[in-house]
Amino acid sequence: PMPVDTSILPDLKQDLAARPRELFIGGKFTAAKSGETFEVVDPATGKVFAHAASGGAEDIDLAVQAARKCFDSGAWPAMPPAQRARIMMKLAELIEANGSRIALTETLDNGMPLMMGYFGAVMAASEALRYNAGWATKINGETFTPSHPGEFHAFTQREPVGVVGGIVPWNFPFVMSVAKMAQALAAGCTIVLKPAEQTPLSAAILGELVAEAGFPDGAVNIVTGFGKTAGAALVEHPLVDKISFTGSTDTGKQIVKACTGNLKRVTLELGGKSPVIIFDDADLSKAIPSAAMGIFGNAGQVCAAGSRLFVHEKVRDQVLEGVTAMAKSLKVGSGLDPETRMGPLVSDTQFARVTGYIESALSEGAKVYTGGGKADVEGAEGGYFVQPTVLTDTVAGMKAVEEEIFGPVLATMTFGDDDLETIAAAANNTQYGLNASVFTQDITRGLKMARRIKSGMVNINGAGGGPDPAMPLGGFKQSGWGRENGRAGVEAFTEIKSVTVKLG
Ligand code: NAD
Repeated sequence: PMPVDTSILPDLKQDLAARPRELFIGGKFTAAKSGETFEVVDPATGKVFAHAASGGAEDIDLAVQAARKCFDSGAWPAMPPAQRARIMMKLAELIEANGSRIALTETLDNGMPLMMGYFGAVMAASEALRYNAGWATKINGETFTPSHPGEFHAFTQREPVGVVGGIVPWNFPFVMSVAKMAQALAAGCTIVLKPAEQTPLSAAILGELVAEAGFPDGAVNIVTGFGKTAGAALVEHPLVDKISFTGSTDTGKQIVKACTGNLKRVTLELGGKSPVIIFDDADLSKAIPSAAMGIFGNAGQVCAAGSRLFVHEKVRDQVLEGVTAMAKSLKVGSGLDPETRMGPLVSDTQFARVTGYIESALSEGAKVYTGGGKADVEGAEGGYFVQPTVLTDTVAGMKAVEEEIFGPVLATMTFGDDDLETIAAAANNTQYGLNASVFTQDITRGLKMARRIKSGMVNINGAGGGPDPAMPLGGFKQSGWGRENGRAGVEAFTEIKSVTVKLG
């Protein structure tokens, strides 16, 4: 059953049209200093349906000052950890209580199917908060055996890194904001969030609920605006101690350069071109749907999407037919339609980019097995819909094989009875290293492949529905720096201090 109360949609739309979403700074909602707003487009129709405040350097400065004050005064970091955990748990409850509004806003703004807006945004965010709230009371240092044991007592303590700038992409706007925030807050940091300009709306609900949950003013601040203005100002601000960025590899590289001013700590969750490897002994009844949804889920706008399929030639036809049957059965349409399994791409830019990659692949000799272009959706002619697409005759070196498309486009390659080194080398032939999937009934082979693949995550015989807040997430190579989630994710928001005490 649909867990979202859609009867609130007309009121929600009216409210979105009636007033621009504001910035959330120091516990209060406010317009941008410049008074400027920007348009928010519904990707299922191509029409403007809301506006959001366009934050600039001045607004970022106010938000950073508020976060700084909350941090330096101890209002958040010196609060007893159990109390911090309780406030985070309270926010989790409020998110669930406002689940329908959040899910509908996420679907209107990003285009994702409403069920994904509920489970992938609302529930994933509240679970991320609860998981990380648990860490607030469990951040410990270590004691050591020093070089001169009788003379010294030595230990480390972990301290929050300070004020964090959290920069978020548009593909899962709500959960990405909340998960970053939850890890920073658990560590005792304060944060300024900068949502993506394509999807600023659910962040305003977050601000409202943060205010209600009882956080001290300035613990969480939200400045909507563009990357080149608000984002760049945050990254360059001298009073920010760490940037936690999720987005494209190109922007990640610019951010690293901009952080050299005060040598901010930087963690980066970037793009991927993740391989899916299906051996001839795989249980195809599991491998096929997993491969299909691994690239068609959220219209392929998933950093960990399995976008390169490597399939054993003996099962190649069966797998391609199975994936194609799933592609054809997926209803493409507005995320608000309960039948929809794949929504539109987020923007006209993204639509041009994805269809451009398909065209470039064809011009380089690839063939369309299924899909291949714009999807026609009745009653939604202005929407950014692309067909779930499978390409064959794709080879290393083609743009569509090398680069992240971030759309529902699968490149397929085959292998024979090669040794594992050869298969792994093909899978590893990429600048990225975020995720990988292996399907085989032979667990030893699966584990041997897991060792050989150069990526931050490997799934054997299927993945969960989304990131697990308990499992570190991040990339090798140009997929990023550091990890989010799990203990590693929280610890990335701390500094280690070594303390030695001379005895006697
Ligand atoms: P993007 O890099 O263009 O934008 C991401 C964010 O960075 C936005 O908020 C944007 O405003 C901001 N930004 C842009 N330029 C900036 C600058 N110069 N300084 C500071 N901030 C700036 O990425 P996108 O196109 O919005 O998102 C899609 C990309 O994100 C894909 O490449 C995808 O793989 C990646 N992604 C990675 C993960 C992960 O966990 N590894 C998760 C989701 C998305």
